[in-house]
Amino acid sequence: MDKLKIPFNKPYLTGKEMHYMYQAINSGKISGNGMFTRKCQKFFEEKYGFRKTLLTTSCTDALEMCAILADIRPGDEVIIPSYTFVSTALAFVREGATIVFADSGTLNPNMDISKLEQLITPRTKAIVPVHYAGIACDMDAIMNLADKYGILVIEDAAQSVDSFYKGRALGSIGHLASFSFHETKNINSGEGGMLAINDTRFVKRAEIIWEKGTNRSEFFRGEVNKYGWVDIGSSFLPSEIIAAYLFAQIENLDMIQTRRKHIWESYYKRLNGVCRDCGIKVPYIPDYATNNAHMFYLLCRDLDQRTGLIDHLKNDGIQAVFHYLSLHKSQYYQIRHDGRELPNSDMYTEQLVRLPLYFELGDDDVDRIIDSIKTFTGKA
Ligand SMILES: *Cc1c(COP(=O)(O)O)cnc(C)c1O
Repeated sequence: MDKLKIPFNKPYLTGKEMHYMYQAINSGKISGNGMFTRKCQKFFEEKYGFRKTLLTTSCTDALEMCAILADIRPGDEVIIPSYTFVSTALAFVREGATIVFADSGTLNPNMDISKLEQLITPRTKAIVPVHYAGIACDMDAIMNLADKYGILVIEDAAQSVDSFYKGRALGSIGHLASFSFHETKNINSGEGGMLAINDTRFVKRAEIIWEKGTNRSEFFRGEVNKYGWVDIGSSFLPSEIIAAYLFAQIENLDMIQTRRKHIWESYYKRLNGVCRDCGIKVPYIPDYATNNAHMFYLLCRDLDQRTGLIDHLKNDGIQAVFHYLSLHKSQYYQIRHDGRELPNSDMYTEQLVRLPLYFELGDDDVDRIIDSIKTFTGKA
């Protein structure tokens, strides 16, 4: 009998989603910025210390709001790692920014902080660190550089819910931050996201941009007696139906995180030694960072070994995947890139592989995946 396939990802349903969505629908208020939106925002502000949050329809949207808030103009430079999802760069490119790609470090895919200062010029408007796999970048070093040169820091915290840097929540340190609730993230609403605003200078304008360039949020609070068109913006807010779904996930965040961390630890403990002998590395987490178990990845010796491992797992019914292709070599940006080589970014592009990691992945599934990898490394 064929073994049941183990998919790479399976979005978790807590069971309360339909209940809250029904409540939202039944309330007669299903457009955005209603009760569930406020409940979600309040939760994040209170639990993680973000000064102000706004739910969005995606992390991409939250990043687009950041680019507008940062007042990016054509020719402004924005420093972004090359090994990241397209949206990190795209949101700024839409406003005319020139992307200055930073290389990853050798220890993990986060940007190499030791080479960051040399990328800063008088045109640098923002630095966008991506906390890869929810593992913090060295935020003290980044914030110090930003202060020294008067640059904004916008955290791409898409993968970083419930993760910390020296005790501070990721997304609470930069001037602005973005989160994703895409179905592949720890908690999700299918598509979804959130803007976190830590520099209160941006709060008022963010609410306006969020509500199609109108001061409707102030109107709803009774701060102005009519509302109208006051700035640029778009329709960045999700409907109450999506917020209701997300609220069910939020309520179960601790339980979801406990299970994900358990799976992550099993992989780490049991693969560390097995892999080392054939040149495969397990993730590196610096002392200043926590692990939110967003992702478990392995770093193969080279592209051939990775292709072999993915094929081997596939034969055993296990779906493992690689992802980001260096953005500086992408079809869209390579002709615009300044030509610098970014060898570590290319290394992760060729050597990183992600293993299945989701709430419902059973201990027996984890055993099967680990056994398959052991066979691959010739250790079974
Ligand atoms: C998932 C992800 C995004 C995009 O999130 P969406 O909610 O799908 O827009 C952006 N950046 C990183 C690093 C991500 O992992």
